[in-house]
Amino acid sequence: MSDETNPFESLQEQIDDAAAHLDVDDGVIERLKNPERVLETNLTVELDDGSLETVRAYRSQFNGDRGPYKGGIRYHPGVTRDEVKALSGWMVYKCATVDIPYGGGKGGISIDPTQYSEAELERITRAFATELRPIIGEDRDIPAPDVNTGQREMNWIKDTYETLENTTAPGVITGKAIDSGGSAGRVEATGRSTMFAAREVFDWIGEQIEGASVAVQGYGNAGWIAADLLDDIGATVVAVSDSAGGIHDPRGLDPVDVKDHKNETGSVVGYGDAEEVSNEELLTLDVDLLVPAALENAIDADLAEDVQADVVVEAANGPLTPGADDVLADSNVWVVPDILANAGGVTVSYFEWVQNRQRFSWTEERVNEELERVTIEAFDGLVDAYEAHDLPNLRTAAYVVALQRVADAYDQAGNWP
Ligand code: GLU
Repeated sequence: MSDETNPFESLQEQIDDAAAHLDVDDGVIERLKNPERVLETNLTVELDDGSLETVRAYRSQFNGDRGPYKGGIRYHPGVTRDEVKALSGWMVYKCATVDIPYGGGKGGISIDPTQYSEAELERITRAFATELRPIIGEDRDIPAPDVNTGQREMNWIKDTYETLENTTAPGVITGKAIDSGGSAGRVEATGRSTMFAAREVFDWIGEQIEGASVAVQGYGNAGWIAADLLDDIGATVVAVSDSAGGIHDPRGLDPVDVKDHKNETGSVVGYGDAEEVSNEELLTLDVDLLVPAALENAIDADLAEDVQADVVVEAANGPLTPGADDVLADSNVWVVPDILANAGGVTVSYFEWVQNRQRFSWTEERVNEELERVTIEAFDGLVDAYEAHDLPNLRTAAYVVALQRVADAYDQAGNWP
């Protein structure tokens, strides 16, 4: 794993790679490579023992040319200003790739949430929500879950915002519990679009997803649901991992059973009689499909040399360094980029926000159907760009499509003031 790659530099490199194929003014590209603004704040919270602790938090509003800033909030010790800036930029291009009317933003708190009680996490979350209150809003900036946050944190943020604003505004945040204004299908959405993306790319390259062997790195919300849905459409999940280690069984694993084991023991490790594998071994298994579903920089150029999968579908944000992209393109490995593959999360967030604004709930069937349509249309658009511009890989194709859309919105609005 390459921890040295700065994800913000990776983002800027990805934008430059795509810009080379577009006729967009250099000054506009420069704008689209940098966040509009970043909030950095230090939250002082009281711990259960009465002591005070100060934790650092960020919210980057990268670009709002196509709509309100949109993107999750993560709790992780590795959160840095540059990581949040990169993640917020990826949100801009993700929303533009799937053509939903949002810009991009991202937030994070640099903490290890396992070290805090629920009451402490609530105080930290409400302190952050209080700092965020002036800059978020249903039409301004709409946070959502990301690594180590979920419905519980979203419900706290919504309640803090609504209480301080003395209003009801469920669309200020997405990824809420159903009874707090959440959408059916939101929890599964990231894994679902990952499955759709895998199915579409296999179909496009003329391979069968039925019977394809799959390795999944990361067994959180995105990874485990992707594994389960890929299993549902006939693929064979042979290996999965989490931060404690990985397991491999060439005969296939039952994703639900593995999830139950993780819920009971805290990890996928130790499941049944599966062989234990390291993170690196999992990523270099001879499988048809590899799904990185953990964090950035999982595969760098060195590790990419050993990747044996034919297809990589990115459920995580930024799991491949730009160097890894080059190596995989040279070895004819197809990579479906994060900004398409995992866009299901923000797409169903958009559906949640639409339902909140309409005060009308959709059925899960409708949510899943609309998500499938959006993902297929986006995939087709990316393949069209790949073929029309003779591009090196599908990531550059996604950025070509997305950058053009954001640049057009900026041009149409005009540069003012
Ligand atoms: N955190 C998710 C992502 O990286 C979802 C963002 C959202 O729903 O706004 O795409």
